[in-house]
Amino acid sequence: MSGSPKIGFVSLGCPKALVDSERILSRLKAEGYVTAPDYAGADVVIVNTCGFLDSARAESLDAIGEAIAENGRVIVTGCLGKDAAAIRRSHAAVLAVTGPQAIDEVVAAVHAALPPPHDPFLDLVPPGGIRLTPRHYAYLKISEGCNHRCSFCIIPSLRGKLRSRDSADVLAEAEALASAGVRELMIIAQDTSAYGVDIGYQASEWRGREIKARITELCAALGELGIWVRLHYVYPYPHVDELIPLMAEGAVLPYLDIPFQHASPKVLRAMRRPAAEAKTLERIASWRKQVPELTLRSSFVVGFPGETEEDFQYLLDWLEEAALDRVGCFRYEPVTGAAANALPDAVPPEVTEERWHRFMAAQQLISAKRLQAKVGQKIGIIVDTSNDEGIVARSTGDAPEIDGKVFLPADTKILPGDRIEAVVESADEYDLWARPAASKGSRRRGTAPA
Ligand code: SF4
Repeated sequence: MSGSPKIGFVSLGCPKALVDSERILSRLKAEGYVTAPDYAGADVVIVNTCGFLDSARAESLDAIGEAIAENGRVIVTGCLGKDAAAIRRSHAAVLAVTGPQAIDEVVAAVHAALPPPHDPFLDLVPPGGIRLTPRHYAYLKISEGCNHRCSFCIIPSLRGKLRSRDSADVLAEAEALASAGVRELMIIAQDTSAYGVDIGYQASEWRGREIKARITELCAALGELGIWVRLHYVYPYPHVDELIPLMAEGAVLPYLDIPFQHASPKVLRAMRRPAAEAKTLERIASWRKQVPELTLRSSFVVGFPGETEEDFQYLLDWLEEAALDRVGCFRYEPVTGAAANALPDAVPPEVTEERWHRFMAAQQLISAKRLQAKVGQKIGIIVDTSNDEGIVARSTGDAPEIDGKVFLPADTKILPGDRIEAVVESADEYDLWARPAASKGSRRRGTAPA
């Protein structure tokens, strides 16, 4: 293996970009390339960039500069690659620049810079492909692009219109991941609930029957794999209501990540958000009635142009009533090329800052209260790490990286990827402390979902 060409990889941005990185590395590994752990050991470095916010563009340009300084032979891909001229202006030495999801182009650029070995061993690729996540969880991208035009976002111009994968293709990948040891799948897309709209929900064959390319049918089929299925980036279209019974049955996790972004109808209209008119508070109440353990995660933007104190107060009141479990809040930041830049009545940065603090303080109280209500309850958890210092796990209500954690005392018999039941002993605003439930509740790897 020492003679194999070595690739260094820097992956920036969101889980969708991470999936692109995994696909690039899987292709290269199939051709006999190996990955290098550092710049010095790499023959060429690929930087998968993010170009969503101006701050992310700056971070990507810095990463390219670092790779050039440390290694010198750099190929750039990802969202920032759409603006090849800007990259070359800052870093003339890059070998090649390709855009997002340009897997073939990146691989071609690698071939040009570093030819593949003559006799690749195709079986070097593990069944689930190359993944950048721990063995027990993975992201599964079901579509690319987006048909919306939210005024603060340039993703559609970076990643194009919605293009959904066939359901059989998605399900085959999910099966391969499950066979490779994945116990939890995060379903992602720019707009997960719009899955299949572009291909008329066309059905394809999986396990001898036709499955429509529609989120409800896809989730029901994924539920047959016996692994945790977690839904991200779900816009609250009416048909999202159909997912709730699947959660009640245990086919998918009782977890919905819905990026509401705001609550004031005026601000939502200015943002041009999809499903902005949906009666969300009534629907949240109805979802919780059907699935009391449902965890709702969302993200919001404060300081959007035209947001008045009245709009912001509307958002705080809405938040109080919605009592979402997990919430991220961003200070509005103009993005080069976004329509919102032309909107009047920019909110001064100090007002945005002050609203952000008020928002976070309000949400912390809500989150702490909701977590406190879990004390004494039995919950399903999945273990992320286990060592002499203790166990770090997540509940059905916690996605990796963005939500909270569950801490348990050390137990050498409990391993990463295990799904067990635990009893919650205490909580703060974000995390839980628990102990394993009585042994009959403990489940080992390979048994039914917790
Ligand atoms: S739904 Fe809106 S925010 Fe999300 S990717 Fe599409 S345009 Fe951007």
